[in-house]
Parts: sequence; structure tokens; C-alpha cells
Amino acid sequence: MSLALDAQALPATTMAKPSLAGLGRDGLKAALSAAGVPDKQLRMRVNQLWSWLYVRGVSDFAAMTDVAKELRSALAERYSLARPEIVTEQVSVDGTRKWLLRLPAQGRDGRPPEVETVYIPESDRGTLCISSQVGCTLNCTFCHTGTQRLVRNLTAQEIVGQIMLARDRIGDWPGAEAPGDGRLLPASDRKITNIVLMGMGEPLYNFDNVRAAMEVAADGEGLSVSKRRITLSTSGVVPEIARWGADTGTMLAISLHAVRDELRDVLVPINRKYPIAELLEACRNYPGLSNARRITFEYVMLKGVNDSLAEARELVRLLAGIPAKINLIPFNPWPGTQYECSDWEQIERFADVVNRAGYASPVRTPRGRDIYAACGQLKSESVKQRASAAHQAVDAGVSGS
Ligand code: SAH
Ligand code: SF4
Repeated sequence: MSLALDAQALPATTMAKPSLAGLGRDGLKAALSAAGVPDKQLRMRVNQLWSWLYVRGVSDFAAMTDVAKELRSALAERYSLARPEIVTEQVSVDGTRKWLLRLPAQGRDGRPPEVETVYIPESDRGTLCISSQVGCTLNCTFCHTGTQRLVRNLTAQEIVGQIMLARDRIGDWPGAEAPGDGRLLPASDRKITNIVLMGMGEPLYNFDNVRAAMEVAADGEGLSVSKRRITLSTSGVVPEIARWGADTGTMLAISLHAVRDELRDVLVPINRKYPIAELLEACRNYPGLSNARRITFEYVMLKGVNDSLAEARELVRLLAGIPAKINLIPFNPWPGTQYECSDWEQIERFADVVNRAGYASPVRTPRGRDIYAACGQLKSESVKQRASAAHQAVDAGVSGS
């Protein structure tokens, strides 16, 4: 059973005024300057705002008690502190939370795009899985996101906005209350300890915005998520891997999924451009790579496609010499897919080979299944669910939005 909240039950967010929440220092500086703050005060005012926004998480200018009243009202007249608009919030029986967010439409085609953010609590940590694009331009054949037509990059502000909104909703600001159904949150002080760029989209195809957003996330005077607790997952955009590592110093995950080029060409078609050997070479050269800072290799288990024990042995052979973790992901099926998840016994046999080569407990436990929060199921299932809820409402003669 899962709990779905109606968007109307959530705090109203108004997108009418531009929001300052999620902006970097330059964006805040420009906004303050436009509101009449003199140049020589800008640095100090940006620092004040930074701390209110990213340490305290305030969502009201009135709470900024060390900012002069006149400036607070000047800011409130022009700007808001709104987070991205929540369409639905779902809470799984295992504590996993999923938010469907509506973003402003860009350009003239009008339809506001939607993305998802997922929070996965464990006993000692909480991981936030964020999206970097609406949809994805790549077409990995086992991934539902890749089948979506509408694609646009998220702005840096929209990416940071996902973190702020999640912290609002799970009460992860100093002095904030955990939500009423706040069971299953981790015991750690901070409820979001880790960030993974494993939601919708290929983050290295939105390089500048994702980098700017991770700079805000990792800023020690603000949100303060350590770079070593931020992981970017890529399908293998080889030319950007070294630059990402050098610029940001985050952890890296690679969606490998196959050990032969002929198969990877089909599963992860970007492989035709950047084959396995080139990808692994880029991994070997990833800045800061060491036994303490390993690369995670993701491997989705597809029945009869990539799950033989010969492939398990080849996987181990390929990765020899690269400080690596291996994550076996049970395939999450979606309507219309040609693939099936490997049998559990086969996943265990595959994992045994990997384990014997020295990689610890590599199978990723599925989380939030009851709310379709798993990898590769993002957005589309929610849209379907809402459509079917709307049908039910119509069938029952219920009117309203
Ligand atoms: N585009 C990036 C990050 C987002 S996808 C990438 O491909 O790495 C995050 C992870 O979910 C990737 O490893 C992806 O291959 C995996 N994934 C996608 N669809 C899936 C599905 N249906 N079942 C299991 N894993 C899936
Ligand atoms: Fe895009 Fe990643 Fe899905 Fe491939 S697996 S289509 S790169 S989101």
C-alpha cells in the first residue's frame, strides 16, 4: 500500500514571481542588484541570503531577521522563494518517497514538462535521486525514460530546487519537524546524506547546469553535501568524463550493462560512438580514482540477454585493475518492454561469481516498488496512474480538477 497526497493538500507554491531558491551566488547577486542593493553591499547580502536559503531553508523573506525590513519587502515584492511545483507526493511502505514535479514550459509549445525526484531512506543514510533532464535523448532499449518524446535540460536552479523541496518535505532543515508519517527516516542528523544523479536524463548532456547545481549542493557554507557523497551516473559520454571529474570531484557511476560491444550497441546505443574499451580507458583515467574512491559499475539483469555466468566472468575480467564497485540492478519492467528481469537464482549465481572476485554484496535491493519509484520507471508510470485515477473519477461521476 502506498500513500498519495493530493497536490492541493501541499503548501501552495506560486511561480508568478521569479524564485531565488536554487540560484547560485551570481544569480543571487544579479537579483539583489536589480532590487536596488548597492554594489558595495552585494557580497555581504548574498552571504546573508545564502545562509538563510541553504543552511536554514527558509521559504519566507520575513524569516530573514538580520536583513533590514525595507530590503525584505523590496525582495518580497519582486521575488519568491518557491520550490518546483509538486504535482503528487507518494510515500512507499518502505519509506521511499517520490515527488512528481511540474516545471514551467519553455518556448512556445506550451505543455509544462514533469520530472521526478526520489528519496530512499536507509538506517544510516538517506539518498536523494535527482533528475537532470526531462526525458532523455538517448534510447537505451531497456529504459522507459528513453522512450519519452519531450526532452529539455533542467536549469541549475531546477536541479537545486529538487534538493530543497525534498528537504522541506522530510523536515531536513535545522529545527524542522519530520512529517507526520516520518517513520523510516535514517538515524543520521541529516536526512539527506547522499545525492545520486540517477533520475531522468543523461547528466553529462546537461554538463554546465548539473555542474553549477552540484557546486551549490556541495558549498560548505550552504547545503554542504560532500562531493564524495554525490554520484553522477552516465551511460558513457566518454569525452566529458575526465572534464567532469576534474571540474567537480564527485563520485562516478557507469551504466555498463553489457560486456561485449555487439550487445552494448543494442542496450546502450551510445556505445556505437564510444565503445567499451574507450569507456573503460576513461574510467581508468578518472581524476581522483583510488581504492577509497571507486567507480560504481551498474549492470541491469536482463533474462537470457546479459545474465550468463560467462558474462559475469567477463565482467570481472574487464574491470580488473580499476578500483570498482559492481551494482547488479534487477530489471524493472514497464508496459511494452521486450525484456524480462533475470530469475532470482540466476542473479544470485551471477552475484556469486562477482563476489568471489572480491566485490561485496552487489545486488541493489528494489525500493519503493509500490509507488513505481525504481530506476527507469520514472515519470511515465505516474502519468499513467494519474490518467487512470482521472478515469476512475470520471467513472464514479466525480468532477473537479
Ligand atoms: N542516464 C544516466 C542516469 C540515469 S539512469 C545513465 O544512464 O546512467 C540511472 C540508472 O538506471 C542507469 O544505470 C540505467 O541504466 C538504469 N535503468 C534504466 N532503466 C532501468 C530499468 N527499467 N530497470 C533497471 N534499471 C534501469
Ligand atoms: Fe537515458 Fe540513462 Fe535511460 Fe539510457 S538509461 S535512456 S542514458 S536515462
